Amino acid sequence: MISPSTIPITKVVIEPDQEAAVLRVLRSGNLAQGPVVAQLEQAFAQLCGVRHAVAVSNGTVALVAALSALDLHPGDEVITTPFSFAATLNAVLSAGATVRFADIRDDFTLDPDAVSALVNERTKVLLPVHLYGLPADLPALESIASRAGLALVEDAAQAHGAQVASRVVGSWGIGCFSFYATKNLQCGEGGLVTTSDDRLAARLRLLRNQGMRERYQYELPGHNWRLTDLQAAIAVPQVDRLDQTIAARAANAARLTEGLAGLPGLLTPTVPAGRTHVWHQYTIRVTEGAPVTRDELVKHLEHARIGFGLYYPSLMHDYPCYVDHPQVVADPTPAATAATAQVLSLPVNQFLSAGDLDRIIATVREIFGD
Ligand SMILES: *Cc1c(COP(=O)(O)O)cnc(C)c1O
Repeated sequence: MISPSTIPITKVVIEPDQEAAVLRVLRSGNLAQGPVVAQLEQAFAQLCGVRHAVAVSNGTVALVAALSALDLHPGDEVITTPFSFAATLNAVLSAGATVRFADIRDDFTLDPDAVSALVNERTKVLLPVHLYGLPADLPALESIASRAGLALVEDAAQAHGAQVASRVVGSWGIGCFSFYATKNLQCGEGGLVTTSDDRLAARLRLLRNQGMRERYQYELPGHNWRLTDLQAAIAVPQVDRLDQTIAARAANAARLTEGLAGLPGLLTPTVPAGRTHVWHQYTIRVTEGAPVTRDELVKHLEHARIGFGLYYPSLMHDYPCYVDHPQVVADPTPAATAATAQVLSLPVNQFLSAGDLDRIIATVREIFGD
């Protein structure tokens, strides 16, 4: 018997319109930041319902730029989740602030009550992460931020187009997006910051371009954080079809949830009322009541050639390089710690076939002894 091919957790397909757009840029001779970056910014601002979108070189830089534009000082505190990719934490450290960690809820996003408990006179920013494509509880976080006079910066690297109360992420606070190769909208490397604040947008544009508005007129010490037209050409057509991408991923998620129902100890992801999930990841939890552990399930999936991901196997501040870091406060977060041992993401990308989904479901059901 021929062994089945691997079902990948992520897949990149470049469509003919993207190839044509890249070729146009190549032939224009303008490979750096130019009109196609401007086109991407306009399309993305419209998607988010904001006045400004500022494209930058990657998602980490988007976070660093947003935090830098807020002019944080040593000792200022940023409250975020410990259950995220290291970029969230690294960006806070780059911006010179101290990071505090609040615990998460069952939906894997920041618990607003835990955030409230950490707010003090040094707190300057709330930094929720819309993990796996599900927005955090933005109405609650926005109200905490406005009561305490804090900035709200959204790590929306995984959540392009997701909504809460019919408002798109990136319009609640300062939105930070990534276009890294594995994200729902990708151009290899890329990022973008959204805001409706004119002054903040102007500052972000200065920071991106060595502090220059006019050539050699330096207004502040800046950086080279620019995106290129070549990258923007790959991204723009994906903004135009983001609705279809999200719908396809949501349909796959619904099929998985239906197919995996009723297995003991296996929790499928849920979407709190009022929020839309864009299914960057489809993440199940393998709890104590299951006949296999999460790590045993991993072994079986490897054998069955079904792609999976562990996002994330440890909390950020548990890595030795952060343990004694002077800008990291290791606040206890038991719910997040429990999640690291239970989560497992299954393929949900828009390129899966009905047969792929059936195979994923049948394999998991079999592993659970069903
Ligand atoms: C991908 C990601 C980032 C960083 O984006 P890059 O473009 O890879 O720099 C930040 N935060 C989260 C949650 C991410 O998933």
